[in-house]
Amino acid sequence: MPITPDKIKALCFDLGNTLIEFGPRQIAYQYAALVKVLTELFGFCDASRLKAARDSQIVAPFSSGYKENNPRVLCEELIRGVYDIVPQQCQVERLIQTRYELFVRAVELPDGVMALLNKLRRRYRLGLLSNYPCSRSVRDSLVKIGLSEIFEVVVVSGDVGYVKPHAKPFESMLLQLGLHPSECVYIGDNWLADVQGAKRMGMCSIFTTQYVPYESFEPAEKDHSPDARIEHLNELEELLLP
Ligand SMILES: [Mg+2]
Repeated sequence: MPITPDKIKALCFDLGNTLIEFGPRQIAYQYAALVKVLTELFGFCDASRLKAARDSQIVAPFSSGYKENNPRVLCEELIRGVYDIVPQQCQVERLIQTRYELFVRAVELPDGVMALLNKLRRRYRLGLLSNYPCSRSVRDSLVKIGLSEIFEVVVVSGDVGYVKPHAKPFESMLLQLGLHPSECVYIGDNWLADVQGAKRMGMCSIFTTQYVPYESFEPAEKDHSPDARIEHLNELEELLLP
């Protein structure tokens, strides 16, 4: 189904690897910083155990009914995964705070994104729907890169309790926009979470391959196809502002 711009009222965006880069480079930076803080707290940190624990946490929601992780539980698990100990609450707090700071620090707005969103905003309402356990990390990073005012609605899976492709985060977005799914386009880089999630809801879907995601899901038989594919976000202008 081709996208018919005159039927569309809102554009809803994924954040990581759609509007901003959040791929292997950013994840590697986070791992290095986590090793440092864990070493300070508990002594030698086995980086391969840390990576194994984190990698399994990243994909865990996709094999547990799409339930989002709790940031506190994630940090406790991580410490247990690397050191086999039950941490004190103050140590867990320190790790939660470190992960928050690392996330906000890693988020940078690529050139041209602000100008593009401002053009799109003249014609469409804009929303953001992101999978991330810590809502504060996403919201404060939007403030940092100057995007907090541009979106009418911001939904983070950590607030909803479920990750895309589950219907609940999409329903929250649509409810707050007061729109029917057919009036919205969802733009994202994750085949399962973004393309399948949006299409199952009845939204239009644009699949972007501009960045290399850390986790990726292969298309399965009977999967929905996106309504359009882009290799760079700037292609949205031609697609949606004819
Ligand atoms: Mg993404």
